Amino acid sequence: MTFINENFLKLSETYLFVEIGRRVEAYCKTHPEAAIVRCGIGDVTEPLPDACIKAMHKAVDEMAARETFRGYGPEAGYEFLRHAIAEGDFRQRGIEIADDEIFISDGSKCDCANFLDILGAGNRILMPDPVYPVYADTNIMAGNAISFSQATAENGFVPAPPDAPADLIYLCFPNNPTGAVATKEQLAAWVAYAHRHDAIILFDAAYESFVRTPDLPKSIYEIPDALDCAVEMRSFSKSGGFTGLRCGYCVVPKAVKGRKQSGGEKSLHALWSRRQSTKFNGVAYIVQRAAEALYSDEGRAQVAALTGFYLENARLLADALTRAGRSFVGGVDAPYLWVKGNKGMTSWDMFAHLLEQAGIVATPGSGFGAKGEGYFRLSAFNIRENIEEACRRLAAISLEKL
Ligand SMILES: *Cc1c(COP(=O)(O)O)cnc(C)c1O
Repeated sequence: MTFINENFLKLSETYLFVEIGRRVEAYCKTHPEAAIVRCGIGDVTEPLPDACIKAMHKAVDEMAARETFRGYGPEAGYEFLRHAIAEGDFRQRGIEIADDEIFISDGSKCDCANFLDILGAGNRILMPDPVYPVYADTNIMAGNAISFSQATAENGFVPAPPDAPADLIYLCFPNNPTGAVATKEQLAAWVAYAHRHDAIILFDAAYESFVRTPDLPKSIYEIPDALDCAVEMRSFSKSGGFTGLRCGYCVVPKAVKGRKQSGGEKSLHALWSRRQSTKFNGVAYIVQRAAEALYSDEGRAQVAALTGFYLENARLLADALTRAGRSFVGGVDAPYLWVKGNKGMTSWDMFAHLLEQAGIVATPGSGFGAKGEGYFRLSAFNIRENIEEACRRLAAISLEKL
């Protein structure tokens, strides 16, 4: 019989959001009258920016004529999009990224998972706790040993680099799940740590478009020296509402190198390029045109309005939590709020309490790691009406046990 990858047996039985769905469904069965407000998984709710819709209509028409029809595209993405990104997100902001250092993908979840393909076995992996479950699970699948740097109230949920060395470091700012944002100084400490240990940083900037505070970094490359030790992943899922459309990108500067067992170095750019051209078919032409449209003046204004809308939701939730006397972080420059639960209650106790007393679905913090225990996450990705209802309910139960 065929052998299986037994690393999969080390994963928890179900993915966090599947378990939440199961518990909410069970509750609704026994309480059919309950009007649930979902502040859990945090999918975007607003439709796509108009600039994207127009670009896609045009692209669909191109696909209808032999002269403009497109078949297999370049695996790393069409030049028009790679150029728009390198120019718009980096060069115009003084960061020297070449068009061919941008690799278009169907999203950051896949990029951060697939990146392990080009790295060897035995790397020492370092990531924060709590953490986006995909980083941890994909390393467990690959059989890698993981160390965690703890994000706590004491360090403002931005851990400092440890003394112990690592080879691959995961960072995500603005952070999911805590909503914390690292300053330039804090990121610079990580870049220095990576250089000290010849390590690589995988920087997840999925929420960069929510940063409004001047001087907070949107990219790891705002730190001088990061260009030869960091790979950055970005996604249009949260910035442009592309969760269902699927498009993101990975920046792999040519200067980022890895070590060969036999000695010597190899550019990760060459390996990633090879990996993508063999295992990936590229993103649909129509979708890449939609992504390109986000870089037009009209598109930029619409992204600002869309993320601004969710930031206003976050502000409303933050106000309600403050009025209810809750301690929390996030909700500024980020669409998530990381809320301390009641003393003596686990995250799943808090989940049940919020569901049963207020009909609010939150995400239990312990689902993001051991250090998330005792916290829950609220998502600002919702329609305004639901956020307002959640705020009313948070106020109403503030006098009770919460
Ligand atoms: C939503 C999210 C992403 C983006 O995921 P896609 O696969 O591009 O939809 C990446 N990282 C984090 C931490 C996220 O929360």
